[in-house]
Amino acid sequence: MQGFRKFKQKFEADRAFYQSLAEAQHPKILWIGCSDSRVVPSLITGANPGTLFEVRNIANIVPPANAPEVSVGAAIEFAILQLGIGDIVVCGHTGCGGVQAMVARSRLSEPHLKSWIGYGRIGSSATVDEAVKANTLAQRDNLFTYPFVRERVETGELAVHGWLYDMVTGDLLAYDDELASWHSLSEALRDRGEHASL
Ligand SMILES: [Zn+2]
Repeated sequence: MQGFRKFKQKFEADRAFYQSLAEAQHPKILWIGCSDSRVVPSLITGANPGTLFEVRNIANIVPPANAPEVSVGAAIEFAILQLGIGDIVVCGHTGCGGVQAMVARSRLSEPHLKSWIGYGRIGSSATVDEAVKANTLAQRDNLFTYPFVRERVETGELAVHGWLYDMVTGDLLAYDDELASWHSLSEALRDRGEHASL
């Protein structure tokens, strides 16, 4: 209740902004991230309400377009085809419990969890954080199983990104396809000497 009281004060102080949101949403980014309570998209990115259209699930999974699980696919269709969003971020994070569960999947007894993380792809990663990176990129690649995503990326209307939140340092890393490596967005900001909008 304390938290809601604070929010309501904020709402009243910025009523015009919140009422403009009530009319329509024009989010800039489809964020596909983990359910983990410590990885809060608006906190990490500083995004205001109305900016991020979010899908959060265990281990930031994107089931392929032909999978029986349609919840994420529905969100992708809504975000891209109805809202016209031009960027998708798939964001993993260090120490992900969902990815750790992938590593130990054969020993899991929870049926829904075991089935869900079957969509994970960690290859032959030696550590959990390597597995997190591999899974994040594999889930990003799964976006291309949706034909409208592939087509829009090809025409340049849509960009897809693989990001990693480091819970220890508070840093965000982005995957660079040309260099085939992860680079720190903090360093990129320092190099540019400015703050990016996201
Ligand atoms: Zn996680």
